Amino acid sequence: MSKKLIIFIALIIWIVPQTVTAQQILLTNGTLLDPSNQSARKQHLLLDDNQIIGRFDEMPENFTGTKIDISGKFVLPGFVDMHTHAFGNRAPNTVTETMGPSTTAQVVLQAGVTGLVDLFGNEQKLFEHRRLQQQGLIGGADIYASLSCLTAPGGHCSQFGKTRTIANEQEAIEHITALAKKQADVIKLVSTVGGKLPSLSPQLLKFAVSQAHAHGLKVIVHIHTLADIESAIAANADAITHLPDDGTISERLAQKLSEHGVVVIPTLACDTDEYEFLFSNTLDAKLAAKVTAPRIIAGYRQKASQMTNEQKRNAKQRTLKYYQSIKHLIAANVPLLSGTDAGNYGTLQGFTLHRELAKFVAAGYSPWQALASATSDSRLFLGKPTDLDAGAQPSVVILNNSPIEDINNTQTIFAVIHRGVYRKIKL
Ligand SMILES: [Zn+2]
Repeated sequence: MSKKLIIFIALIIWIVPQTVTAQQILLTNGTLLDPSNQSARKQHLLLDDNQIIGRFDEMPENFTGTKIDISGKFVLPGFVDMHTHAFGNRAPNTVTETMGPSTTAQVVLQAGVTGLVDLFGNEQKLFEHRRLQQQGLIGGADIYASLSCLTAPGGHCSQFGKTRTIANEQEAIEHITALAKKQADVIKLVSTVGGKLPSLSPQLLKFAVSQAHAHGLKVIVHIHTLADIESAIAANADAITHLPDDGTISERLAQKLSEHGVVVIPTLACDTDEYEFLFSNTLDAKLAAKVTAPRIIAGYRQKASQMTNEQKRNAKQRTLKYYQSIKHLIAANVPLLSGTDAGNYGTLQGFTLHRELAKFVAAGYSPWQALASATSDSRLFLGKPTDLDAGAQPSVVILNNSPIEDINNTQTIFAVIHRGVYRKIKL
């Protein structure tokens, strides 16, 4: 190596840390909440656009970056939505907002969601927006994606748009290899045995899971019935999403999920919140108005007046059934991850994550456990650092009020830092 080159490299090494220092942010006097170990400590938090640098009891000396005093406020790792669709929000009577992945990623950031897992949309768009984001060309919450939804020909997902279908083992190999090449973050498979649409057979499901695992990819199985849960367990799936429609997850089945290490993304709010959107003050929340257009909220108000008593009774019964399943999962220590299934009725991008947490607490989770479901546990599933320690992602949410005292306080967002960029949120 020439002398000039050595001097040049030394100069670069010397310059780079100086540049990073200029972008550092020091959050002072806040209470740091770490759901991974359920700790609440008053400390200063130092981060840059790459990582959390550290947490300190004493103010670091000679600090020259941006200092933000957050006395009386609470800092959490940014939330991750483990099940979403970048389709935009919709309301009854065909009122819709159209949003692609990059717009959705911008919107949810306002709700403290700094990461989202898209489990089916326009594959090409998802791939492209994620690539642009990874190159730093577009912002928004970190986009993770299954890119496609692997289902039987004519199966669930295919009614919403173009998706990859699997009729046999050869097709499973081809599609999963293609998705692995495109660096899908997870693989989504659909099992809807006993439903109206064709389903992957338990055998093909198992084969597909083994293929995904051979590529080092985790698998989330969309389930519809109790039989689908049994198939997902037998197939060694890493997670199931949704709750069964044909009955309650029994204590025994919950125990079986626990023993096999299968986590559950129940999308409880998606299944139970439409009723509350219609008949409670849920949509009066400031955060709801922040993430969607007034016409979407108006669409729900209109639907409420059209609903019959029988429809109301059915909705209430469904809600009770779902809560019973969740109670058994909690009792069996099955980890729940927060996913909204946003893009569907009864959800709003970003906002519904907060509803999911409140419902987990209503079903028996402690606020700490609910917070972990959207922070440390989700990050663990995605293979990311789970805490607020040095080396973790520089994505945090700052709340005005303590979510440990009242889980609904997750909605009191003061500011969001994503990849080291500070955004004050006006609610
Ligand atoms: Zn979904």
